[in-house]
Amino acid sequence: MNEDRRADGADESAPAPHRAERPSIAIVGCGPRGTSVLERIAANTHLLAPDERLDIHVIDPYPVGAGRVWRQDQSPLLWSNTRADECTLFTDDTVTCQGPAVEGPTLEQWARDLAAGDLPFPPGYEPAPGTREEAARVHAGWFASRRLTGDYLSWFFRRTVAAAAPSARVRTHRASVLSLGDLPDGRQRVRLDDGGTLDVDLVILAQGHFQVKPHGPEPRLAQHAAAHRLSYQPTAQTSDVSLDAFPAGEPVLMRGFGLTFIDIMVLLTEGRGGRFRREPSGELRYVPSGREPRLYVGSRRGVPYRSKFGYVLSGLPPRVPRYFSPADFADHSLDFAADLWPALARELTVAGYRELAHSHPHRLGVDAGEFLDRLDAAQWQSPEFKDLIEQAVPDSRDRIDVDGLDRPLANRRFSDAAALRAWMLHYLADDLERGRNPRYSAHLAVYHAIFSISQALWAVVQRGEVEPGNGSHSMTAFFDFCRFRTSGPPGPRLEQLLALARAGVVDFVGANMKVTCRGGMFEARTSSLDRVVRARALIEARLPGRALTRVADPLLLHLVGEREIREQVQTDPTTGRRQPTGLIDTLGARPLGPDGSPHPRRFVTSPGDFPRPRTNDPFLHQSDAVARETLRALGEARSRIGLDRSGLPATVAREDRGDGEEG
Ligand SMILES: Cc1cc2nc3c(=O)[nH]c(=O)nc-3n(C[C@H](O)[C@H](O)[C@H](O)COP(=O)(O)OP(=O)(O)OC[C@H]3O[C@@H](n4cnc5c(N)ncnc54)[C@H](O)[C@@H]3O)c2cc1C
Repeated sequence: MNEDRRADGADESAPAPHRAERPSIAIVGCGPRGTSVLERIAANTHLLAPDERLDIHVIDPYPVGAGRVWRQDQSPLLWSNTRADECTLFTDDTVTCQGPAVEGPTLEQWARDLAAGDLPFPPGYEPAPGTREEAARVHAGWFASRRLTGDYLSWFFRRTVAAAAPSARVRTHRASVLSLGDLPDGRQRVRLDDGGTLDVDLVILAQGHFQVKPHGPEPRLAQHAAAHRLSYQPTAQTSDVSLDAFPAGEPVLMRGFGLTFIDIMVLLTEGRGGRFRREPSGELRYVPSGREPRLYVGSRRGVPYRSKFGYVLSGLPPRVPRYFSPADFADHSLDFAADLWPALARELTVAGYRELAHSHPHRLGVDAGEFLDRLDAAQWQSPEFKDLIEQAVPDSRDRIDVDGLDRPLANRRFSDAAALRAWMLHYLADDLERGRNPRYSAHLAVYHAIFSISQALWAVVQRGEVEPGNGSHSMTAFFDFCRFRTSGPPGPRLEQLLALARAGVVDFVGANMKVTCRGGMFEARTSSLDRVVRARALIEARLPGRALTRVADPLLLHLVGEREIREQVQTDPTTGRRQPTGLIDTLGARPLGPDGSPHPRRFVTSPGDFPRPRTNDPFLHQSDAVARETLRALGEARSRIGLDRSGLPATVAREDRGDGEEG
């Protein structure tokens, strides 16, 4: 990173503070969120600050646009987990934002345009090495590498900078922010880790999923590993860790079966020279290089998240919610399990069955029209509802069972490892088939419905008091279920997992995995069978959980230490237990101090997944709301320090210290 900084031309010595002569905003962190907020500021400036000429400082130690997650400097084997046609940073007419929509290509369309030579390049943008080659291979249902996704973001960033000029001049700083301070006139002093400082009117934090210190059992497991010369990898982002400590042939326990597991699985197999080969029978086979360790994977569920779909619905995504509106829940306190779970489960289930009736009526035991009428009329889980499903949906593979879909290994016990392995191979093959074969599009409709219902649920939660509850129908369990159904691996990755399991490189340890330290080894046990797997290596194959109490990011450490921010907590009204959310508490976008007062000059964005096109994605309207709140505050802040509209008081000296001026 230091080399990058020098390449950007930054002065390595501690310079004098940069003083703003024009209204100025610093954006801390420039991954998708920081980039999106910048774009929304550019789109709204002519409406909310028409006479201003802004300076916007964008600060990130990683390349702007892509940021840490989507940077070029990572293996091309690491893919985005979201289909390329489901990724965009553009607002379209579905986005309920107050600012003007700016339409543009999804990641997939962008790659097609690039490959066809139809993509306009904004000033300063050149495709990264490998981008053209990958873009030429784009196809429907394609999952882009993270590097290519980062290049889309980089293109979007440059395009935004060009569109923002001349109202806004954007400067990039390849650095981490260490602290923020209030100057006597209210402006903000931003201290960078390269020794520089920036004095600006307002600051927006867009730091994404912040770094945390090792927690829970991790320090103890690390100590055990150090004492016995074992290998231990705590939770981390895959592109930030070295896997050299896991040698060929050695058993490695992997705790976690989500995206991070898939990343590490790929790096330890294909990344070590193994190859996947398609047999004449159509089956994918793994040809080992001999340099792979042997991976034993388990987790709480013991199965990977449900595979992504490789096809699209033939019609429009289901209209959800059908049976309630967030306003129905406005005026009274709610119990999640009693009031909301049944409503949500009904919405998801019916969304699946409506798709079944529309696209596959021949698989119903009754007339499709009659089925839909009776579905609408029946109370959720009433005897009429159950009878209808029994009669109308004869094939169990077409049934939508929201509870059963969530924990497929729950209450299953196997006689031995071979029986568990056989069950897993069947489960994975079945899931792969659902993701590939449009015959199962009812499950794809449920996938779409989850996104819509989550937005409606969010509106309910924000309006009133909701008791989150405990157990399988709690709010936490519902969001966990949503992740299980929507955050799974791309189909091709699941097929690779199957091939690796058949080749004996990956084995399964089951559900409710527990790891203990004994006899100078790690030992894994699960609820799925009576077996202890011993290994000299353990990888926590998950992203770290967030909590401000464990934060490692220097800026947030500083703000927590100075008691300038506080964590949003959820209180369970029954138990009174306060649960940290990992989010900074805000009023609108302004962070609240411990006394509950909002900071007038600082704004906070929340992390979110990559926005999806044509879904009124909350990520995009939140970016718009933060941008507009910031621009409105800019007017107030400038009038308070008595600057005229030109923003040029005679006393302010100009000392440009942007590492790179963008426009
Ligand atoms: C490994 C991984 C894979 C993912 N894959 C997917 C996926 O396939 N699909 C999907 O929808 N979502 C995925 N996500 C979720 C991902 O977080 C979002 O897609 C998206 O990147 C969020 O954007 P963001 O800008 O909020 O956060 P980030 O992308 O994390 O960007 C935040 C930026 O802030 C910078 N920053 C932090 N602290 C400071 C500081 N003190 N000073 C200066 N800069 C700072 C960081 O360097 C970083 O570049 C993935 C996340 C991870 C970690």
